Amino acid sequence: MNILVINCGSSSIKSAVISTETGDRLLVMDIERVLDQPTITFNQLEKIDCSHTGHKDVLAYSFPLLLERLKSTNLDAIGHRVVHGGKYFDEPTLIDTNVEEKIKELEILAPLHNPVNLEGIKISKSFFKEIPHVAVFDTAFHATLPRRAKTYALPHELMKKHNIQRYGFHGTSHDFVSKEAAQFLQRDIKELRIITCHLGNGCSMAAIEYGRSVETSMGMTPLEGLVMGTRSGDIDAGLLVYLQEQEGLNANEIDRLLNKESGIKGISGVGNDMRDVIEKASNGDDQCRLAIQVFAHRIRKYIGAYATVMGGVDAIVFTGGVGENSAMIRHRCTQRLDFLGAMLNEDKNNDIQLNKDTPVEAFSWNHSRVHLLAVKTDEQLSIARQTSKLIEKDLKVNSIPAIPVAISARHIHLDQETLEKLFGKGYQLTIKKPLSQPNQFAANETVKVIGPKNSFETVRILGPVRSKTQLEISRTDEFFLGIDAPIRESGKTENSPGCILEGPNDRIQIKEGVICAWRHIHMTPEDAQIFGVEDRDIVDVKMNSEDRSLVFGNVLIRVSPKYKLEMHIDTDEGNAAEITRGATGVLLSTNGEARLTKKKLK
Ligand code: ADP
Repeated sequence: MNILVINCGSSSIKSAVISTETGDRLLVMDIERVLDQPTITFNQLEKIDCSHTGHKDVLAYSFPLLLERLKSTNLDAIGHRVVHGGKYFDEPTLIDTNVEEKIKELEILAPLHNPVNLEGIKISKSFFKEIPHVAVFDTAFHATLPRRAKTYALPHELMKKHNIQRYGFHGTSHDFVSKEAAQFLQRDIKELRIITCHLGNGCSMAAIEYGRSVETSMGMTPLEGLVMGTRSGDIDAGLLVYLQEQEGLNANEIDRLLNKESGIKGISGVGNDMRDVIEKASNGDDQCRLAIQVFAHRIRKYIGAYATVMGGVDAIVFTGGVGENSAMIRHRCTQRLDFLGAMLNEDKNNDIQLNKDTPVEAFSWNHSRVHLLAVKTDEQLSIARQTSKLIEKDLKVNSIPAIPVAISARHIHLDQETLEKLFGKGYQLTIKKPLSQPNQFAANETVKVIGPKNSFETVRILGPVRSKTQLEISRTDEFFLGIDAPIRESGKTENSPGCILEGPNDRIQIKEGVICAWRHIHMTPEDAQIFGVEDRDIVDVKMNSEDRSLVFGNVLIRVSPKYKLEMHIDTDEGNAAEITRGATGVLLSTNGEARLTKKKLK
C-alpha cells in the first residue's frame, strides 16, 4: 500500500508517501514556519515559498503540488499522527466525525498538539475525500500501562473529574524500535523484556514487558521524566509553589520555564542542541559537563527502575537523534551496568553508524546477557504500517460471528511433582466434571492457598496435570491474599510471585506461578482465519448484552487445534459486566464497529 503520512506540528508539517511493502519514501514533503513564512520542501531538494499562512491554507496550497509530483502513484490511505488519544484510543483508528469530536475533546490534555493535528485531519479529509483516513496516537502504545503505573497519588475524585493519569508519549517510536530490536535479535518480542530510551529533543523511556508497555517516563503531559532539550523532566512539585511565591511567576510563566527554558538548555546555558553542548563540554565548559551528567544520570536511574519493574531486562535500546548518534551519551548511560548483565563494548559503541541499510547495531559484548542496541527510529514508517494494517483488516471482513463468554473462577493447575508433594507419591487427579475445552476437567481435589494476608481453604484443581504449577486468581483475590500478581497469559509464570499450598500430605511453598489471567479467547486455526486474527493478537470484544456499550479491551487471542471457541474472563470482570450464562461477544474492528468476516462460523 502507498500511505500518505501527515504529522502536523505546531509550526511545521512533516509528511511523506511511503510504500509499506518496501519502506521506501516515494515522496517527502516538509513544510517549515507554517505560521509566518512557510516554505514547502519536496524530497529535501525542491523548495517552494508559500504566500498563505496557517495549517489549513498552507496544506490546501501544498496538496495539489504533492499530487502533481506523485504523478500516477495511487494513494491507498492517509495516516495522521495524533499526539493525545486520552482514554478513548488505544490503537490506530479510522477517522469519522465521532473520532474527530473525541480528538477535539482531548485538546485540553495536549493544547499544543491536538488542535493542529485535528486541523490537518479536517483539511486532508476535505481534499482527499475518497480515501480512508486513520489516526495513529502517540499515547496508544502505553494504554497497557497497569493501574499502579498510571495512577498519580492524588485525590481519587479530582483525578476522575479531570481524567488525570499517566498517559505516556512517543508510543509510536517505542513500539517501532522494540520490534526492530526483537527482529534483530531473532526473538519473539513476546519473550523479551526491553527498555527503550528515545533521546531526541523530547526524551522518554519505556519498559516493554513481553511486547506490552508497562512503564514509561512521560506522564499526563510530555513534561515528566527524563531531562530533555528544553524540558526539565522530573522535579519536586513543591518547586512550583516555591517559584510562584519567590519569583512571582504565574501559571503561563511556570509552564514556559519548565517546557522551554529548562533541561539541557537550562543547565548548560548554551542551548538545546546536544551536539553544541557536547562540544563545549569537551572544551572544558563546566555547565555543559553538568548538563550531560544530569542527563545521563537520570537515564541510568530509570534503567535501574525499569529493570526492577520487569524483574529483569533482556535488551536496552537507544534511539532518537541523541540515542542513535552519540556514542558518548550511550557510553555514559550504560557503563558499569555489569551487575545487571549488560556489558558495554566500547569499540562497537564508537563504531556505530546507523543508516537505512544498518538500522540496528549492538554495542554489548557477545557474551553480555543483556543486549545493548542502537536502533534507528522511523515514526513515519510505523504510522504508514499501522495505517495499512488497519485498512487491510477492515477489508477482510463481512459478517458477525458471536463468541461464547465463560467466567473462570479462581483455580490452580499443578505439575505432577507438586501434586505428589501435596497428595502423596504417585497420586492421580480424579475427574469431577469435564470443562468446555476438550480434555480439560475440574478435579474432585482442592488445595488450600495461603497468602501473606489471608488464605482460601478450597481452590479447585483443574486437570490434567501440566508442566508448570500455576494459580490463576482475580484482582479481588490478590488483595485478599496479599499477593501482587501480574496479568499474564497462561503458562507465562516467569518472575511471578509464589505462595504457600497445602494438601492432605504436605504444606509447600511454590516459588512462582501466581498470576492474574489475561482475558483471552480460545479458538482453532480455522476460527482464527475466519476472524482474520493470529495467535497472541490483542483485540477488543463487545458484549452482546442489553447494555450495548460494554467492551472488553486488551483481549488475547490463543489459537490451537485443541481449543474450542470461547472467551474467558475472571470473576471480577464477569461481576462488573453482569455477565450471565450463555453470554456472547463479538470481535471489534479497530473503529469500534462489529468486525465482519468472510465466512459464517460453523
Ligand atoms: P526530535 O525529538 O525533535 O525528533 P531528534 O530525534 O531529531 O529530535 O533529535 C534531535 C537531537 O539529537 C538534537 O538535540 C541533536 O543535537 C541531537 N543529535 C543529533 N546528532 C547528534 C550527535 N551526533 N551527537 C549528539 N547529539 C546529536
